[in-house]
Amino acid sequence: MTINLIYVCTGNDKEKLDWFKTINIAGVQLSPQELRNAIYTGSWLTDAKKYFSKVGCPAVKIGDKLLSGKMIRQEYLETAIEWVARTENKSIEGYMSEHQHDINATLLWLHFQTVINWVNTYFTKYRKEMKGIDWGRLYVEHKDDKLDPVSLEERIKKLMIDDEVTSKKGIYEYLLTGKEKFLSLRQFSDSQKRQAYEKQGGICASCGNYFEIEKMEGDHHKPWSIGGKTDNDNCVMLCRDCNREKSNK
Ligand SMILES: [Zn+2]
Repeated sequence: MTINLIYVCTGNDKEKLDWFKTINIAGVQLSPQELRNAIYTGSWLTDAKKYFSKVGCPAVKIGDKLLSGKMIRQEYLETAIEWVARTENKSIEGYMSEHQHDINATLLWLHFQTVINWVNTYFTKYRKEMKGIDWGRLYVEHKDDKLDPVSLEERIKKLMIDDEVTSKKGIYEYLLTGKEKFLSLRQFSDSQKRQAYEKQGGICASCGNYFEIEKMEGDHHKPWSIGGKTDNDNCVMLCRDCNREKSNK
């Protein structure tokens, strides 16, 4: 015997969404965007689904290689709304609620195309690492930067074959921001650090004080940015304070 429960819920859309989240615990769970779609129904959503939620839809044609998630679970639509909502400092729900009764979703579609065009214009050679990057955020932060697709591609090629770079996906954000943390550069192993520690007799190479090895960190004497490798000869032990001071420079 199957028991069907029908809930009648009253309240504003936000309250309905919270309620949907609460009862969405049995059977096949709805994705967060499927839940939102159940609430913010209307002309805007109907039009948006034409672009983002149908097999062979325009978003798949131009964005499939760059987007993560499943189109059929409304995750492409979710990404597109997130990207455009960010330009107005809004949440996905805030954006959907504001545009729920718009007659169409062309602004959403236009912004999505703009982001994809921007990516394809500057990163001309597709690599699988480009899939799932938060391009909408990078677009907002860097759309006014003066970038050169040719030199970007040359640098990508070099970084892709650089053994020191362990996060290949991070190359794109590194090139836009200049921040090495996105590359997850190789770190010295415990044995490399121990070797350097013994050679230095426990003395910090910067302040000259003695420390236990646990209180020290391995530093690249010649930094990665000018060709330094993570090998024994390039490891220098610094105390934590000195290392922090050096990396802040
Ligand atoms: Zn020190």
